[in-house]
Parts: sequence; C-alpha cells; structure tokens
Amino acid sequence: MRITLIKPNIGRMEHSLYVDEGRMEPLQLGVLAGMTPADVEVELVDDRIEAIPYERPTDLAAITVETFTARRAYEIAAGYRAQGVPVVMGGMHATLLPQEVGRHADAVCIGDAEPVWKHILEDARRGVLRPLYEGTCDLPQPASLTRRDLFRGKGYLPITLLQFSRGCRYTCRFCATSRFFGGRHLVRRIDEVLREIDAQERKLLFFVDDNIVASPESAKELFRELIPLKMRWVSQGSLDMVNDGELMRLMADSGCLGHVMGFESLRPENLRVMGKTPNSGAGSRYQHELAVLREYGLQIWAAFTLGHDGDTLESIRGILDFALESRFAYAAFNILMPYPNTPWYHELAAAGRLLYDGCWWLHPDYRFNHAAFLPRGMSAEALTEAAFQVRARFNSPGALLRRFIGLQGNLLSLYRVAQFLIYSRLFRRELFKKQGMRFGLG
Ligand code: SF4
Repeated sequence: MRITLIKPNIGRMEHSLYVDEGRMEPLQLGVLAGMTPADVEVELVDDRIEAIPYERPTDLAAITVETFTARRAYEIAAGYRAQGVPVVMGGMHATLLPQEVGRHADAVCIGDAEPVWKHILEDARRGVLRPLYEGTCDLPQPASLTRRDLFRGKGYLPITLLQFSRGCRYTCRFCATSRFFGGRHLVRRIDEVLREIDAQERKLLFFVDDNIVASPESAKELFRELIPLKMRWVSQGSLDMVNDGELMRLMADSGCLGHVMGFESLRPENLRVMGKTPNSGAGSRYQHELAVLREYGLQIWAAFTLGHDGDTLESIRGILDFALESRFAYAAFNILMPYPNTPWYHELAAAGRLLYDGCWWLHPDYRFNHAAFLPRGMSAEALTEAAFQVRARFNSPGALLRRFIGLQGNLLSLYRVAQFLIYSRLFRRELFKKQGMRFGLG
C-alpha cells in the first residue's frame, strides 16, 4: 500500500503562486508517517513548494487542513477524488467543522489522530473507509518518533520542530486551540521527547506547543532534562510564566532563547471579555512581565490581536508605540479572526457581525489579513488598513535598526544577533507578500 501525506498551501498572490520562504517542517505529517506501519510506503508532498502529483499512483491521500488552507485543501481533495483516489482529512479545521470537511473527503478524522490512524489505514487498505473517525488521546505521540527523513530537500528553515505538549488549560474565547482541546493540556512522556531530540541532528529546537508552560511542574521536569543536552530552543508560552521563579530559572538554564507570547491587548477590559486569564494579573503595560523576561534573557515574539470591542484606531496605534518602545525582537499584529465554532464566532454570528457569509475561509472575496467581522470602534476596512500600517511600521528599516540596537543593549550573543538579522528580514518580506493573498488556487 502507498499513501500520500499532503500539506496544502494557503493560496496565491495577485500574479503568482505564493511560495513561503519561511516555511517550517510540517510536523504533523512527520508524526503521522512515524505511526504508519512499515509495510506502507509513505510520500510527503508539500504544496507550498511542489506540484501535487495527481498522476502518481497512490492508495490514499491524507490532507491536513487548517482554517487558512481549507479552500486549497478542498481543491487538492477534488483532484485526487477525480482520479478515484480516496481522501482522508484531519487537523484543526476538520475538528472545528467536521461536516464541512466531510463534504470534500471520503473520511474525516477529528481530534488527535494517534488512536485511530492505524484503523484508518487498515480500512483504506480494505476499501471500507468510514466517514468519521474520532480520536481522543491522553498521551501525545506515544511510542513513536517523527519521520524526519521525509523533510529532507524541501527547503525548510533549519530548526527542528517537535512537541512536548498539546492544548492549553485556558479557554480564551477566540482561540481555536481551546475549542479543539476543550481546556485540556496533554503532556508527552519526557523520555520519548528526549529520544526524539537524540534522533535528530540540530542544536536548535522549536517546541510547537500551544502553551509549553500550561502544566508548570511537567515543564520543569522537561527543562531539568534539557539542561545537560546544551540545546537552544524556542516555544510558545503564556505570560503567567513570569510568576514562577523556579520555572523561569530552569527554562533559561535549559537553553530557552525566547517565546511567542500572546500579549493580545493593552486594555484589561479587552482581555477580560476574551477570557485571556493568563494576562489578567498584568499591569496595562506589562512592566513586571517584561522586566522578568529580560532578567532571564528571553527574546519575545509578542503577539497582539487587533479589533477587540474596546479597540479604536488610536488604541491600535498605541499598541505599535508600545511594541516599538519595548523593542520586542519580533511582533505579530493579527486582526482577530473568528475561527469557526469558537465561542467568539458564535457571539459574532448571533449579533449579525460576521462578514463573508460567516465563512471567510471559503469565500471567494476574502483576502488574507483582512477583517472578517464588523468591529465596534471602526469599520472593517479601517481595521484592515490600521493593522497593515502597524505591521509595516514595526518592520520598517528604521524600526528594525532601533530593535537591533536594543538587542545589542541586552548583551545578547552573536548567535542571537545573527538569528535576528536573518529572520527579521525574512518575516518582513513574507509580510508584504502575503497581504491581500487569495485563498486557494482556483
Ligand atoms: S492562553 Fe493562548 S493557547 Fe491558551 S487558550 Fe488562551 S490563546 Fe489559546
């Protein structure tokens, strides 16, 4: 039996295909490949850099679907089904909207694939795929390693992706992760994480956990084990980490370079309405949190969400000023997205505030980085424009230079400076390429 694992692209720019120069390994497909029985031949196809080989014989196409790639994923599924190849789809969007996904696939896997992946393969082999497979696991990626040989030669950034945990104990109202895991935080066995690190060759790791510190005691156990390995690593974590000194010490000693951190907003009322509990104790300008993060030498990729009900054009400009003053290494200024089936999505739907028929991810008129709902303090167009301006100014050559000087002022290593120079230029390029991109290729 032969299967094809597929990572869809987002779409296309006005005059050409979008090629993500900052693309990372599609970890979830490597994990699936690692769980696949040895007698099944596996091919990995990354639509972000290579053409879909519809003509190449395969017995099953397995497509991972995120909300941003759903339109393209359905195009690929249609291509395979037209050739008589059965299609199974899974991933975040499949769990958020199984019925929609089911209209484009022979089988849908919702939740975690671990408990059902071998059943899916066996049913595909026998030609008896069921429409729905439901996986719920307590232990991520048990007794299997990611197949990284499939990533070779595809031009991924030189950083190894892996997971220590999945999900998050918080339940922020706009968060698709929270909807997927229902407030559960699942932790992988530490000896298996160490085995995974041992089986790869790099010294730079990215734990793509939704919130690596959501179970602080488990995180400390991991960090203790990482210290002797002398790795460098980054991850994503909630701001409340700064309240646990032991956690911070172990994190820094274990080689943590920094995190993507959800600051979201400078307005406590916005955070309260969205249920962003880990930020609730923070002052309006996060002075304490920033001081602690700097004390431990962590670089911050600050993530902000724009378009909260309490936001105005002025408050959005205030976020830019705050990000520049704080000299964050990187920052993302994302318009709030109504992910399907989240509490915030339903609230907007009930209030008649969703644009694009409530289905922005499939709507032919929707464009990447545009507002998909009616904000309260401005028009949707004004929000789209304000977000773009904020991103453009934060990534302007002058702002890059000031952040670079701030970085040196923090007495950071040459290694970090080199990383900053490479990645900040890359992210700036991608930012302008992606703005206004269409979803899907059709
Ligand atoms: S803390 Fe982050 S990952 Fe956790 S629910 Fe909130 S937004 Fe989602």
